[in-house]
Amino acid sequence: MSSAPGYGEARRRADQAAGAALAREGGQAAAARAAVAATDSFFDLIRHTLNLDGHLARMACKAGCAWCCYQQVAVTSAELALIVEAVAGLPPERRAEVRASAAEAAVRGRGLDPGRYWAAHIRCPLLDETDRCLVHAARPMACRAFNSADATVCHNSFLGETGRIPVLAAQHGTWAHAQAGLADALARAGIAPGPVALADGLTISPTAP
Ligand code: SF4
Repeated sequence: MSSAPGYGEARRRADQAAGAALAREGGQAAAARAAVAATDSFFDLIRHTLNLDGHLARMACKAGCAWCCYQQVAVTSAELALIVEAVAGLPPERRAEVRASAAEAAVRGRGLDPGRYWAAHIRCPLLDETDRCLVHAARPMACRAFNSADATVCHNSFLGETGRIPVLAAQHGTWAHAQAGLADALARAGIAPGPVALADGLTISPTAP
């Protein structure tokens, strides 16, 4: 197995891609989109270098499985802009549902640490009635980071049991560091990068749904 570039490279590439988008005056949504594209391509490199295809084939994550969508999701201002843009493309009645769900989640989650938030079973306002993400293509980096090889362990954790979710660390680490790189680019451009809790962001954003 050849040696793979470290997570610092994921951060650097996301920073560089987002910085270039901001320099082109593409705006924050464009910066997030560029950082996601750069990180997708970086993860392809990692996948190839570390020969991860077997691990990825065993992933339990699939459309309609949403046990991880009850966590507190932290987003940068650019990721929030990208999500708000995606929500703006939804039908009006769906946007109204998202707005109401976000307000409810923000109130229920206020002041909770991640453990208590998880225990409170606060559903992501972007999850539809079939347990699919309404903004899948624009979802936060934290959601791209999360993965599991065993949905039963995820479900049991949701039910309050202790257990170690079998996570592919390379995927988690890549996206976590990419989000830091995106924040670096925003800060360098004089933009407060956050993070902000997703439900709060959807509630307070001036361009919120
Ligand atoms: S943004 Fe989408 S993927 Fe992320 S927690 Fe919400 S519904 Fe799930």
